[in-house]
Amino acid sequence: MTAGPRATEGLDPRDVLHDVFGFPDFRGRQAEIVEHVTGGGSGLVLMPTGGGKSLCYQVPALVRSGLGVVVSPLIALMEDQVAALRQQGVAAAALHSGLDEDERSRVGRDLANGRLKLLYVSPERLAVEGTAERLARRDLALFAVDEAHCISNWGHNFRADYRGLTMLAERFPHVPRLALTATADARTVDDIREQLSLTEAPVFRGSFDRPNIRIEVAPRDNAAAQIAEFMEEAGDGRGAGIIYCPSRAETERTASRLRREGFDALHYHAGMDAADRRAAERRFASGDPVVMAATIAFGMGIDRPDVRWVAHLSLPGGPESWYQEIGRAGRDGAPARALLLYGAEDIAVARKRIADSPAPESQKRLDHERLDRLVAIVEAATCRRRLLLRCFGDEMERDCGNCDACLRPPRLVDVTEAARKLLSAVHRTGGRFGLNHVVDVLRGNATERVSNFGHDQLSVFGIGKNVAEGAWRGIARQLLARGALAQASETNLPIFAATESARPILRGEEPVVLNAAAMEAAKPRKRQRSSFQPPAASGGDTAAFDVLRAWRKEEATRQSVPAYVIFPDRTLADIAAQRPRTLDDLAMIHGVGASKLDRYGLDVLRVLRDAD
Ligand code: ADP
Ligand code: ZN
Repeated sequence: MTAGPRATEGLDPRDVLHDVFGFPDFRGRQAEIVEHVTGGGSGLVLMPTGGGKSLCYQVPALVRSGLGVVVSPLIALMEDQVAALRQQGVAAAALHSGLDEDERSRVGRDLANGRLKLLYVSPERLAVEGTAERLARRDLALFAVDEAHCISNWGHNFRADYRGLTMLAERFPHVPRLALTATADARTVDDIREQLSLTEAPVFRGSFDRPNIRIEVAPRDNAAAQIAEFMEEAGDGRGAGIIYCPSRAETERTASRLRREGFDALHYHAGMDAADRRAAERRFASGDPVVMAATIAFGMGIDRPDVRWVAHLSLPGGPESWYQEIGRAGRDGAPARALLLYGAEDIAVARKRIADSPAPESQKRLDHERLDRLVAIVEAATCRRRLLLRCFGDEMERDCGNCDACLRPPRLVDVTEAARKLLSAVHRTGGRFGLNHVVDVLRGNATERVSNFGHDQLSVFGIGKNVAEGAWRGIARQLLARGALAQASETNLPIFAATESARPILRGEEPVVLNAAAMEAAKPRKRQRSSFQPPAASGGDTAAFDVLRAWRKEEATRQSVPAYVIFPDRTLADIAAQRPRTLDDLAMIHGVGASKLDRYGLDVLRVLRDAD
């Protein structure tokens, strides 16, 4: 069964939303943005990952006359979007360096014949001689610049070839330009508006809240055990999970450990060759319940809607990148979870890296500020989401109720006395030793190293026997977070020295408090089953849901497209629950547009009948 492109020009945007995409309503500010762009306006859209940016340009491109051109930074992202649009009966294509000669000339022909409605293009392709000329000969509906923060070197993903996009305003002054990004810090926003000549155009800022993602932060004591427990709570046996690792080697170690434990785990990092990366991306998109252990190279362009959880093994780059990374969970709107594990070393290493970087002072100051904001969030005893969203300019009226600080409000204890002991041990050992050594001295462990340096003779030796090792780490983190401890400068190892800010603490003028849980020896937290219910968990529905998923997988493999572009889980769950008997019933279900009804309607009804 095939479905030809549908004529959508001149239709009402809401009808296109319904007929092509199968969605009943626009979300948040989508309606307003679509109306503005359909009317010929330009603008900048700020929305979180998973917020629904794509429809903001796809619907206007379909409604307006001519071709919509979407600039996108990643081949995988383009290919998946094109596959999804074709499933929806939209004449879409991508133009990038990954195409062979044949494919490129086919796109060229379709473009010349006016057969395309949406063209995804990489910035470097757009810059190639002749591309802009060819576009200039066509009637253009709009330009969309996806991941627009790539144009700014304030952002965290600067791409030199994005700079070429400044020509859009000069060469195509009458074509609307819509820039879209999930990065909302003021400098990046100003820069994007400047570069794309959008200073007169409106900024549409959506809410950055993603309330379905539960946010948890914990000190790292036994990462493998903590992740195992988290995976058990957060996984649903169907969706995927992502573990962000601090190094390439760690992705490989983590994935092979998990495979030994029986998980279907993959690794991903920028050191792999392109074909292996693509294979891992495809596997992730297949809809199987895989776990991806990856560096932050993995993610942009990963649209899988049923990522159930994202874990970080160490401190991320800043609140913005953390939020972007965890935003990859729960795009389908179902409950999802994020866990961040971190240790005192992470803070020390991050501070040191900034201090030692060759960047100009102004950049370093910003980097330090960014790190401070992140440290304040992970060390917070109050609602973490509130603090996190504040980084995006969102003020929440009340606590979220869905972060660890809200769910298990920490009991704080005064640890000023212990903090003083720690500072004085750092001082007496000369401020040249790592935390492990200092803790050995405090706890009176006469290790070889301790004896070699004669540190068992110091007055501080053994003065902190009664404080658990994990608690010492917690106190060190507090002190690092407040800048009272710093990494000593001669070395890259996490070695500590006390700073000026330690004085008020030593003089007893400033208290240090710590989460009581961290004061207890590292006992595993009592296991709580999550309240998560997979989309179709009730009795007979589950069987039908699984049968539909199996059918989808076969179909996706046959067409070599990601499973979710056929139907997302949410749609399959609704089908399983509602058991439509006719095509008309099926058409009423969320995510079933006209094209998919044509393509798959009869198959789905058959699969349902067979499942009975
Ligand atoms: P972003 O590009 O902002 O990260 P997407 O455009 O990929 O987000 O949208 C995230 C998810 O939300 C997708 O699965 C998309 O199909 C879904 N979605 C977006 N808008 C709507 C809507 N109005 N109704 C239902 N689902 C939507
Ligand atoms: Zn909260």
